Amino acid sequence: MISRCIAKINGHQISGDSYYLYEMHIESDLEYLRHSLHQCAELSGHESATASVLLQFLKNQQPAEIIENLGGQGIAASYIFGNDGPTLLFRCEIDALPIDEAHLSLKYKSQNAGRSHKCGHDGHMTILAGLAQKLSQTSYGQGKIVLLFQPAEETGEGAQRVLADPKFKAIKPDYVFALHNLPGYKKDIILCKEGTFTAAVCSMILKIQGVASHASEPEKGKNPSLCMSEISKIADALTYNQPEHINFQLITPVYYRMGQPAYGMSAGDGEMHFTLRAWTSENLDKLISEFISNIRDIEKKNKLKISIEFLERFASTQNDADAVRVIREATAKSKLEYHSMGSPFKFGEDFGLFTQNYPGAMFGLGAGPDHPPLHHRDYDFPDDLINTGVQMFLEIIDLIIGPRALIDFHNQPLV
Ligand SMILES: [Zn+2]
Ligand SMILES: [Zn+2]
Repeated sequence: MISRCIAKINGHQISGDSYYLYEMHIESDLEYLRHSLHQCAELSGHESATASVLLQFLKNQQPAEIIENLGGQGIAASYIFGNDGPTLLFRCEIDALPIDEAHLSLKYKSQNAGRSHKCGHDGHMTILAGLAQKLSQTSYGQGKIVLLFQPAEETGEGAQRVLADPKFKAIKPDYVFALHNLPGYKKDIILCKEGTFTAAVCSMILKIQGVASHASEPEKGKNPSLCMSEISKIADALTYNQPEHINFQLITPVYYRMGQPAYGMSAGDGEMHFTLRAWTSENLDKLISEFISNIRDIEKKNKLKISIEFLERFASTQNDADAVRVIREATAKSKLEYHSMGSPFKFGEDFGLFTQNYPGAMFGLGAGPDHPPLHHRDYDFPDDLINTGVQMFLEIIDLIIGPRALIDFHNQPLV
């Protein structure tokens, strides 16, 4: 079922499923599109209303092909400019977060209580929609452009589902590109680097099973508190939080629970949640196995049972040198400032999985030094970044399939 959504059309608020109509009124207005998408905010894997709004818009931009239900609610819109030439894939995310924004005075605030676009994916979608508008009016002598609207990025599941979807197999991209807006940096600045751009990250849950007993007789049970404290110390000892170093690794405790607030009881169970991160998948795997081997020793010593579960794995984003060269050149052509990053971002981004399978790169787009941070309840995507994003992607396309191509996709020497 399509969830309810309210769009502001020609100054009137229209509720219900009326966003079906918005294309007739506001098809050329990207800010309205962004605000409509903002109102529809949906969680990872449940982006059906968002997909409907996007489809309405995209069908109007006359792509050669639209693939729906890609890896869930994903959409791929393709523009074909010739039989020869490379296929470039541009990817954005379509999911929102479980964060409420009822306290904000936005006219277009989320109509889904407790859900909102606090990572700016509404803006990223709008940038690709704006690119679709431009591509529908442009012709190149070669190449194919695929605009991918990917579901479920925040849970780290979407990229994997899209790549595993048989409908994706025919796309075969030669290069993949994406951007992410970045509060805390000068507005419109482009941030990029070769090699690792974002960390490999996973989440881990430990369930510790001891034996509860009367609080006056803890010796008759198995209280997990000392075991949890030892695991906590190991997590800290394995951490090397030096982002400039290749062997950076970080274990962050995110949630602990033990026993119950029942004062007659000595705790008999506990739970510990961590995120683990490193610059490469290999280093992350090494960190995981080292942590697990220490946990197993502690388990044995304390005579408790510990189960280990993993969730949300993000592959590290590895930026290809040629793709970064194109981004740098596109920045200069767009008359924007380029910042070559010294060390990667410590956050996880599931675009990483695309760069593990295809050459490509992600870059950051500054959202303003004082802008509320990503995932903060006060965050809202700055509308004036839309045109910058569209411009950057257009320059990238021009540099790869335009007459002044920088990259020779057949690996011939460039003249
Ligand atoms: Zn996010
Ligand atoms: Zn994001």
